[in-house]
Amino acid sequence: MIYLDHHATTPPSQAVIDAMAAVMAGSWANASSKHGPGQAAGRVLAGARSVVAQSLGCKPAEVVFSSGATEANHLAVRGLLAAAPEGRRRVVFSAVEHAGHLKLARELMEAGVPVDFLPVRADGALDLDAATRLIGADVALVSLMAANNETGALMPVAGVAALAAAAGARLHVDATQWVGKMPFRFADFGADAVSFSAHKFHGPKGVGALLLRQGVAIRPTVPGAQERGRRGGTENLPAIAGLAAALAALGSEVELAAEAARQAALRDRLEGALMAELPDVRIWCAGVPRLPGVSFLRVGRWEADVLLQRLERLGFAASSGAACSSSGTAPSHVLTAMGVPDDEALCAIRISLGRSTTAAEVDALIAALPTLRTLLPTADAVAA
Ligand code: PMP
Repeated sequence: MIYLDHHATTPPSQAVIDAMAAVMAGSWANASSKHGPGQAAGRVLAGARSVVAQSLGCKPAEVVFSSGATEANHLAVRGLLAAAPEGRRRVVFSAVEHAGHLKLARELMEAGVPVDFLPVRADGALDLDAATRLIGADVALVSLMAANNETGALMPVAGVAALAAAAGARLHVDATQWVGKMPFRFADFGADAVSFSAHKFHGPKGVGALLLRQGVAIRPTVPGAQERGRRGGTENLPAIAGLAAALAALGSEVELAAEAARQAALRDRLEGALMAELPDVRIWCAGVPRLPGVSFLRVGRWEADVLLQRLERLGFAASSGAACSSSGTAPSHVLTAMGVPDDEALCAIRISLGRSTTAAEVDALIAALPTLRTLLPTADAVAA
């Protein structure tokens, strides 16, 4: 099976597996214990923290390890809101945040917190004029993703950071799809808090972090002594070591940019072939800056499930959007926010390449397109 769903998750690299196995076997003590084995585990934790800090351009004390981006997102939004000065109660999300994050937005609304959503334009880019209107003096924080998990569209973080700063509001950025794919330095990003998950860049699942700018007040959602009181619970040291190993393997900014260019070239070649070989292909967000390895598209009006099943039969694993919501048949909320009608949105599939994707794998998919075309029901059959 050729795996083309790297936005859902990525395979752990051998360096990550080795780092985790070494910590599980040799550093299993509690990193908070005062005895020798505990102190040794504490040094492993400190070492991983400084690798993260060095790789992501932040201070070690700004790293709060968590169980992944979902938890880090919760900590950022609930924690920054709880610590906001009186008179600042409103929270502003983008309308295209990760589906799980929008559930948090709805929970806040049900609890009586005023919430606004920043719209996107038909091309998938964030509407900065609306952001200018919505980010005012009563806003506690703005929560914006750096890059969309479905379309790959990049969000104008710097522009929104300037609006948030002018309004005196905090800015949280969900950089889960950005970190590992695009050059990133927390110190230059303009956000007060940034979340990410290790499994999106060949690290383990169930671990991530919130980077929290020094001096920014936050109330923990899971209180406890660990992580300087910002996130309680015994640290998952093997996973944290795996996260650090995955970050270390990303290489320099130049290497990261070269890998992004490689994936973009493969993606563009694939999109050219899809347009040439299949009827009526529409690729969303192709006209705005987007992540290098992703293609979010429909082929005619074939429903996503039909297309994905035929692709799987031919040996390719792709998805119909976010893995977390792809079990349902609801249209993508991202496409809905872009004004795409439901019947069209239900045809959306996501092909996402990654570091482990080879040119031969993309060529295999291109070579399979004529066969795929014969496997699809005819337009008459679809209409019937
Ligand atoms: N935010 C974004 C943009 C994501 O793509 C994901 C994972 N699909 C998450 C948050 C949640 O990450 P995790 O499930 O690792 O907590």
